[in-house]
Amino acid sequence: MNLHTCMLTENDCYKAGKPLSVRGLMLHSTGAPNTRLSRYVGPDDGLLGMNQYGNHWNQARPDGRQVCAHGFIGKLKGGTIATYQTLPWEMRGWHAGGAANSTHIGVEICEDDLTDAAYFRAVYQEAVELFAYLCKMFDLDPLQDIICHAEGYQQGIASNHGDVLYWFDKQGKTMDDFRRDVRDQMEHSKEDDTMKTYTHTDQMPDWAQDTFYRLIDAGIVKVDDKGEIAVQECSVQPMVYLDRLCGGQIEKLPQAIKALQASE
Ligand SMILES: [Zn+2]
Repeated sequence: MNLHTCMLTENDCYKAGKPLSVRGLMLHSTGAPNTRLSRYVGPDDGLLGMNQYGNHWNQARPDGRQVCAHGFIGKLKGGTIATYQTLPWEMRGWHAGGAANSTHIGVEICEDDLTDAAYFRAVYQEAVELFAYLCKMFDLDPLQDIICHAEGYQQGIASNHGDVLYWFDKQGKTMDDFRRDVRDQMEHSKEDDTMKTYTHTDQMPDWAQDTFYRLIDAGIVKVDDKGEIAVQECSVQPMVYLDRLCGGQIEKLPQAIKALQASE
Protein backbone atom coordinates (compact mmCIF):
# COMPACT_ATOMS: atom_id res chain seq x y z
CA MET A 1 0.00 0.00 0.00
CA ASN A 2 1.21 3.44 -0.94
CA LEU A 3 -0.81 5.69 1.38
CA HIS A 4 -0.62 9.48 1.37
CA THR A 5 -2.79 12.17 2.90
CA CYS A 6 -4.35 15.27 1.40
CA MET A 7 -7.46 16.34 3.29
CA LEU A 8 -10.10 18.08 1.19
CA THR A 9 -10.42 20.89 3.71
CA GLU A 10 -12.26 23.28 1.36
CA ASN A 11 -14.99 20.74 0.61
CA ASP A 12 -18.35 21.49 2.30
CA CYS A 13 -18.37 17.91 3.60
CA TYR A 14 -15.10 18.43 5.45
CA LYS A 15 -16.35 21.76 6.75
CA ALA A 16 -19.54 20.14 8.06
CA GLY A 17 -17.21 17.78 9.97
CA LYS A 18 -19.89 15.35 11.17
CA PRO A 19 -18.60 12.32 13.11
CA LEU A 20 -18.83 8.83 11.61
CA SER A 21 -19.04 5.68 13.67
CA VAL A 22 -17.46 3.24 11.20
CA ARG A 23 -19.51 0.06 10.68
CA GLY A 24 -18.38 -0.85 7.19
CA LEU A 25 -16.44 0.02 4.06
CA MET A 26 -17.89 0.93 0.65
CA LEU A 27 -15.86 0.54 -2.52
CA HIS A 28 -16.59 2.90 -5.41
CA SER A 29 -15.16 3.66 -8.81
CA THR A 30 -15.37 7.11 -10.30
CA GLY A 31 -17.48 6.45 -13.38
CA ALA A 32 -15.25 8.58 -15.61
CA PRO A 33 -12.16 7.55 -17.56
CA ASN A 34 -9.37 9.43 -15.80
CA THR A 35 -6.75 7.51 -13.84
CA ARG A 36 -5.04 10.63 -12.45
CA LEU A 37 -5.47 11.26 -8.74
CA SER A 38 -5.00 14.97 -9.46
CA ARG A 39 -8.45 14.99 -11.11
CA TYR A 40 -9.94 14.60 -7.59
CA VAL A 41 -7.19 15.32 -5.09
CA GLY A 42 -5.36 18.59 -4.74
CA PRO A 43 -3.64 20.93 -4.56
CA ASP A 44 -0.48 19.43 -6.05
CA ASP A 45 1.91 18.21 -3.36
CA GLY A 46 4.68 17.50 -5.86
CA LEU A 47 3.58 13.89 -6.32
CA LEU A 48 0.03 14.34 -7.56
CA GLY A 49 0.82 16.70 -10.40
CA MET A 50 -1.10 19.78 -11.48
CA ASN A 51 -4.80 19.79 -12.22
CA GLN A 52 -4.85 22.29 -15.06
CA TYR A 53 -8.64 22.62 -14.92
CA GLY A 54 -8.72 23.33 -11.18
CA ASN A 55 -11.68 20.94 -10.88
CA HIS A 56 -10.38 18.69 -8.09
CA TRP A 57 -12.61 18.06 -5.08
CA ASN A 58 -10.83 20.36 -2.67
CA GLN A 59 -13.53 22.95 -3.13
CA ALA A 60 -16.96 23.56 -1.61
CA ARG A 61 -19.04 21.69 -4.24
CA PRO A 62 -16.95 19.79 -6.77
CA ASP A 63 -18.61 19.85 -10.19
CA GLY A 64 -21.50 21.64 -8.44
CA ARG A 65 -22.31 18.58 -6.33
CA GLN A 66 -22.25 17.74 -2.64
CA VAL A 67 -19.70 14.94 -2.86
CA CYS A 68 -16.70 13.83 -0.88
CA ALA A 69 -15.04 10.44 -0.36
CA HIS A 70 -12.59 9.31 2.31
CA GLY A 71 -9.98 8.26 -0.18
CA PHE A 72 -8.98 7.83 -3.80
CA ILE A 73 -6.85 5.22 -5.53
CA GLY A 74 -5.21 6.07 -8.85
CA LYS A 75 -2.02 7.32 -10.47
CA LEU A 76 0.47 9.91 -9.32
CA LYS A 77 1.90 12.17 -11.99
CA GLY A 78 4.78 9.73 -12.54
CA GLY A 79 2.33 6.86 -13.10
CA THR A 80 2.85 5.14 -9.73
CA ILE A 81 -0.31 3.78 -8.09
CA ALA A 82 -1.15 5.40 -4.76
CA THR A 83 -3.94 5.91 -2.25
CA TYR A 84 -4.79 9.36 -0.95
CA GLN A 85 -6.79 9.71 2.24
CA THR A 86 -8.95 12.79 1.73
CA LEU A 87 -11.21 12.84 4.83
CA PRO A 88 -10.51 11.67 8.39
CA TRP A 89 -11.72 8.05 8.50
CA GLU A 90 -14.11 8.93 11.33
CA MET A 91 -15.71 11.89 9.60
CA ARG A 92 -19.00 11.38 7.75
CA GLY A 93 -18.49 11.41 3.98
CA TRP A 94 -20.79 12.16 1.05
CA HIS A 95 -20.18 9.20 -1.22
CA ALA A 96 -23.17 6.88 -1.04
CA GLY A 97 -26.17 9.12 -1.68
CA GLY A 98 -28.01 7.26 1.09
CA ALA A 99 -27.92 5.99 4.67
CA ALA A 100 -24.53 4.36 4.15
CA ASN A 101 -22.96 7.80 4.54
CA SER A 102 -23.71 7.45 8.26
CA THR A 103 -22.07 4.03 8.57
CA HIS A 104 -19.50 3.48 5.84
CA ILE A 105 -16.11 4.79 4.84
CA GLY A 106 -16.19 5.38 1.07
CA VAL A 107 -13.18 4.93 -1.20
CA GLU A 108 -13.10 5.71 -4.94
CA ILE A 109 -10.91 3.94 -7.47
CA CYS A 110 -10.12 6.13 -10.48
CA GLU A 111 -11.42 4.38 -13.58
CA ASP A 112 -9.65 4.04 -16.89
CA ASP A 113 -11.66 3.00 -19.94
CA LEU A 114 -12.19 -0.33 -18.07
CA THR A 115 -10.06 -2.34 -20.53
CA ASP A 116 -6.51 -2.19 -19.12
CA ALA A 117 -5.93 -5.42 -17.18
CA ALA A 118 -2.57 -4.30 -15.77
CA TYR A 119 -4.02 -1.06 -14.40
CA PHE A 120 -6.96 -2.96 -12.94
CA ARG A 121 -4.69 -5.50 -11.23
CA ALA A 122 -2.63 -2.71 -9.67
CA VAL A 123 -5.52 -0.64 -8.31
CA TYR A 124 -7.37 -3.78 -7.19
CA GLN A 125 -4.35 -4.87 -5.14
CA GLU A 126 -3.97 -1.37 -3.70
CA ALA A 127 -7.66 -1.44 -2.67
CA VAL A 128 -7.26 -4.91 -1.10
CA GLU A 129 -4.37 -3.66 1.03
CA LEU A 130 -6.17 -0.45 2.02
CA PHE A 131 -9.35 -2.29 2.98
CA ALA A 132 -7.35 -4.85 5.02
CA TYR A 133 -5.69 -1.97 6.83
CA LEU A 134 -9.07 -0.32 7.54
CA CYS A 135 -10.71 -3.58 8.62
CA LYS A 136 -7.95 -4.00 11.19
CA MET A 137 -8.20 -0.40 12.32
CA PHE A 138 -11.95 -0.58 12.90
CA ASP A 139 -12.22 -4.25 13.84
CA LEU A 140 -14.40 -5.06 10.83
CA ASP A 141 -15.13 -8.45 9.29
CA PRO A 142 -14.02 -8.30 5.64
CA LEU A 143 -16.57 -10.92 4.57
CA GLN A 144 -19.50 -9.12 6.24
CA ASP A 145 -18.67 -5.45 6.36
CA ILE A 146 -17.38 -4.62 2.88
CA ILE A 147 -19.76 -3.70 0.06
CA CYS A 148 -19.55 -1.74 -3.16
CA HIS A 149 -21.86 1.10 -4.17
CA ALA A 150 -24.06 -1.14 -6.32
CA GLU A 151 -24.51 -3.60 -3.44
CA GLY A 152 -25.38 -0.65 -1.21
CA TYR A 153 -28.15 0.24 -3.65
CA GLN A 154 -29.43 -3.37 -3.55
CA GLN A 155 -29.52 -3.09 0.26
CA GLY A 156 -31.37 0.22 0.10
CA ILE A 157 -28.60 2.26 1.71
CA ALA A 158 -27.06 3.93 -1.36
CA SER A 159 -28.16 5.65 -4.57
CA ASN A 160 -28.67 3.81 -7.84
CA HIS A 161 -25.12 3.40 -9.18
CA GLY A 162 -23.49 0.35 -10.72
CA ASP A 163 -19.94 0.80 -9.41
CA VAL A 164 -17.83 -1.23 -9.04
CA LEU A 165 -19.62 -4.24 -10.52
CA TYR A 166 -19.64 -3.14 -14.18
CA TRP A 167 -15.83 -2.76 -14.06
CA PHE A 168 -15.06 -5.85 -11.95
CA ASP A 169 -17.27 -7.89 -14.25
CA LYS A 170 -15.25 -6.86 -17.30
CA GLN A 171 -12.02 -7.83 -15.49
CA GLY A 172 -13.31 -11.19 -14.22
CA LYS A 173 -13.64 -10.25 -10.55
CA THR A 174 -16.55 -10.25 -8.15
CA MET A 175 -17.05 -8.44 -4.85
CA ASP A 176 -16.87 -11.87 -3.16
CA ASP A 177 -13.39 -12.26 -4.67
CA PHE A 178 -12.50 -8.86 -3.28
CA ARG A 179 -13.80 -9.65 0.21
CA ARG A 180 -11.89 -12.94 0.27
CA ASP A 181 -8.71 -11.24 -0.96
CA VAL A 182 -9.01 -8.67 1.83
CA ARG A 183 -9.42 -11.47 4.37
CA ASP A 184 -6.37 -13.29 2.95
CA GLN A 185 -4.39 -10.07 3.04
CA MET A 186 -5.24 -9.63 6.72
CA GLU A 187 -4.12 -13.16 7.55
CA HIS A 188 -0.97 -12.69 5.54
CA SER A 189 -0.03 -9.51 7.40
CA LYS A 190 -0.77 -11.22 10.73
CA GLU A 191 2.08 -13.63 9.92
CA ASP A 192 4.36 -10.68 9.20
CA ASP A 193 3.54 -9.20 12.60
CA THR A 194 4.81 -12.22 14.49
CA MET A 195 8.51 -11.73 13.94
CA LYS A 196 10.70 -14.65 14.95
CA THR A 197 12.97 -14.00 17.94
CA TYR A 198 16.01 -16.14 18.83
CA THR A 199 16.51 -16.83 22.53
CA HIS A 200 19.65 -18.97 22.07
CA THR A 201 22.49 -18.73 19.57
CA ASP A 202 22.13 -22.37 18.56
CA GLN A 203 18.68 -21.57 17.10
CA MET A 204 20.36 -19.26 14.60
CA PRO A 205 21.65 -20.35 11.21
CA ASP A 206 25.20 -21.74 11.36
CA TRP A 207 26.68 -18.82 9.45
CA ALA A 208 25.50 -16.39 12.14
CA GLN A 209 26.39 -18.20 15.36
CA ASP A 210 30.06 -17.25 15.61
CA THR A 211 29.27 -13.52 15.24
CA PHE A 212 26.68 -13.70 18.00
CA TYR A 213 28.92 -15.72 20.37
CA ARG A 214 31.40 -12.86 20.19
CA LEU A 215 28.69 -10.16 20.55
CA ILE A 216 27.44 -11.92 23.70
CA ASP A 217 30.97 -12.28 25.13
CA ALA A 218 31.55 -8.57 24.55
CA GLY A 219 28.28 -7.72 26.32
CA ILE A 220 26.81 -6.07 23.22
CA VAL A 221 24.01 -8.64 23.03
CA LYS A 222 22.62 -9.00 26.55
CA VAL A 223 21.78 -12.28 28.25
CA ASP A 224 18.92 -12.21 30.78
CA ASP A 225 18.79 -14.08 34.14
CA LYS A 226 17.29 -17.12 32.41
CA GLY A 227 20.36 -17.27 30.18
CA GLU A 228 18.35 -16.15 27.16
CA ILE A 229 18.96 -13.54 24.49
CA ALA A 230 16.26 -11.77 22.45
CA VAL A 231 17.53 -11.26 18.92
CA GLN A 232 15.03 -10.65 16.15
CA GLU A 233 15.52 -12.71 13.04
CA CYS A 234 15.65 -9.60 10.85
CA SER A 235 18.70 -8.25 12.68
CA VAL A 236 20.86 -11.34 12.27
CA GLN A 237 21.95 -10.91 8.66
CA PRO A 238 22.90 -7.20 8.93
CA MET A 239 25.03 -7.97 12.01
CA VAL A 240 26.85 -10.78 10.21
CA TYR A 241 27.56 -8.52 7.21
CA LEU A 242 28.82 -5.82 9.53
CA ASP A 243 31.03 -8.39 11.25
CA ARG A 244 32.52 -9.38 7.90
CA LEU A 245 33.15 -5.70 7.10
CA CYS A 246 35.03 -5.47 10.39
CA GLY A 247 37.21 -8.41 9.41
CA GLY A 248 35.36 -10.74 11.79
CA GLN A 249 36.01 -8.49 14.79
CA ILE A 250 32.72 -6.66 15.19
CA GLU A 251 33.01 -6.92 18.99
CA LYS A 252 36.04 -4.61 18.82
CA LEU A 253 34.10 -1.88 17.01
CA PRO A 254 33.24 0.12 20.18
CA GLN A 255 36.91 0.31 21.24
CA ALA A 256 37.96 1.18 17.69
CA ILE A 257 35.49 4.06 17.59
CA LYS A 258 36.69 5.30 21.01
CA ALA A 259 40.27 5.20 19.82
CA LEU A 260 39.33 7.13 16.69
CA GLN A 261 37.53 9.81 18.72
CA ALA A 262 40.53 10.10 21.09
CA SER A 263 42.90 10.66 18.18
CA GLU A 264 40.81 13.48 16.67
ZN1 LIG B 1 -20.07 5.14 -6.19
